[in-house]
Amino acid sequence: MDTMWLYYPALDKENIDSGVSLTKINKMNLITAFDPWQGKLCSCPKKYSLSAYTGCGHRCLYCYASFYIKDFFRPRPKEDYLGRLEKEIKKIPDYSIITMANSSDPYQPIEKTQKLTRETLKILKKINCKINIVTKSHLILRDLSLLKDLNVIVCVSLATLDKKLAKKLEPNVSSPRQRLSAVEKLSKYLPVAVRLDPLIHPLTTKKINQTIQTIKQSGSKQIITSTYKLKPDNFKRMLKAFPQYKDLWQKLYLKDGEKIGGYTYLNKQLREILINEVCKATKNEKLEFSSCREGFKKLNTKNCDGSSLFKN
Ligand code: SF4
Repeated sequence: MDTMWLYYPALDKENIDSGVSLTKINKMNLITAFDPWQGKLCSCPKKYSLSAYTGCGHRCLYCYASFYIKDFFRPRPKEDYLGRLEKEIKKIPDYSIITMANSSDPYQPIEKTQKLTRETLKILKKINCKINIVTKSHLILRDLSLLKDLNVIVCVSLATLDKKLAKKLEPNVSSPRQRLSAVEKLSKYLPVAVRLDPLIHPLTTKKINQTIQTIKQSGSKQIITSTYKLKPDNFKRMLKAFPQYKDLWQKLYLKDGEKIGGYTYLNKQLREILINEVCKATKNEKLEFSSCREGFKKLNTKNCDGSSLFKN
């Protein structure tokens, strides 16, 4: 959710409540409009969202989706997923963008055995659509032969190149090295972007230039970035893991930060400094750049979600 993602289109407004019942979620449509509430900072093109799973086993400390979905870190397949998907794809207009996934990682650990993302790709092959996959897992390489035959872009998400720090922030995620290796292998066949997010200041923002240079070597065509946004539960997890930052983060977020769309952001001035730093380093490496839901659209050279990389 990536961090990926500040809105969870699989949920409607009445379900924005951590007590939402699973039965209710499971009965909703699988393919839903992305950001139906049109968040004021969202500059994504029109697209759909699809997740095979409710919840995510990657257990990232900074995850936003855990605020909305009960037992989020206990992932489970959606009820009768494949049968419902076969029916729903018939309603999707040709050449639509379908993004997988915004409220769970399509290649989280449960996918190793359940293979619902793999089956999804086979089903989506039957229609004319564009697929945007966002993942933190090198498990995606398992499906390379399928991906090669689809109109797909992959965004690999990465918060830091520091292996130990990554393990602490994202306990069940592939190591940074494995993710970069996935970028390298995928980019021989498909357009790949790296989501350098979330930027957690100052925990992950000390070596931006070096990080971007390393990402460039992996073959990524674009860097997409965004800052960490605070929700009560993710902030609690972050403070427990990094008590040494308690005073600083409380000042940066709770005292000096700003509320946007139900999230606590860093203030605009600091966000601009951080986003600009990534932007400058990215442009120096001659890669495409975009920031996601930060309010600095003018800095973007391509769409904020990597969708400019589709071949057609
Ligand atoms: S726990 Fe899953 S959905 Fe949440 S940020 Fe991590 S990968 Fe994304």
